Amino acid sequence: MASGRKRYAWRHWLGAFFALCLLAAGGLAASIAIFPPEGVLILEYHKVNDWSNDVYTVPTAEFAAQLDELSARGYTTISLLDFLRAKKGKQKLPDKPVILTFDDGYLDNYTDMLPLLEARGMKATVFMVTNDIGLPGYLTWDALRDMQERGIEIGSHTANHLPLTGMPPSEAEKEVKLSKLLLEWNGIRTVFGFSYPNGSYADYISTILKRNEYLAAVTGDPGLNTMDTDPYLLQRINIPRPRLGLTEFRLRLFKADLCDRLGLWRHRIK
Ligand SMILES: [Zn+2]
Repeated sequence: MASGRKRYAWRHWLGAFFALCLLAAGGLAASIAIFPPEGVLILEYHKVNDWSNDVYTVPTAEFAAQLDELSARGYTTISLLDFLRAKKGKQKLPDKPVILTFDDGYLDNYTDMLPLLEARGMKATVFMVTNDIGLPGYLTWDALRDMQERGIEIGSHTANHLPLTGMPPSEAEKEVKLSKLLLEWNGIRTVFGFSYPNGSYADYISTILKRNEYLAAVTGDPGLNTMDTDPYLLQRINIPRPRLGLTEFRLRLFKADLCDRLGLWRHRIK
């Protein structure tokens, strides 16, 4: 009898615990719906095509559906430069700004991704690994210059795509400096945006970026970006190949709101 009562008590507390969790989750969802977080959403993509099957590839139909979902939710695409100008008070941002970023510089960004963007009047930022330009499967210089003319912003993702914190600072400086120079020598407008390979950053890397006249850098840390976010530690939501279609995309957008609301990974200006 006594052990039965004990078991009952145990179940009772477990039930109460789950009810509380549900209530908290419901409350959080309702608060996000009533008081949407203020901040710039940055999405991190790699490939958009229908022929590669790795985790970095979003199929074209899924990508198109994600763009339409962003539009339906009232998001407007902006460039990294738009955001930086707004941070300095030189430009007004739309109500729900989103920056679409693409790392590594795959050729499908030109052949498959760009037409889907243009059909919707959207823009994006592509971060190039400069020593891969022109290799099979990667963007060529001609494609890159054409993308720039069609409204795509070009940034650096280093020369060789090695994590910068795993090499001597002098080597890291070369990666940062040479990739920028090579892009600019080949007709790309002043390169001010940077994406950390493997998302690995450190204070001394930000110093190197500043010394080489970069104005902003994106990490792989999730969250939203406000006017107080450190411009060298901008936060992004990764969008890999979806396994649950649009539901997964919606959950990833929710993750940005949630991280922002809970103050996780929030990189404020020091
Ligand atoms: Zn990369």
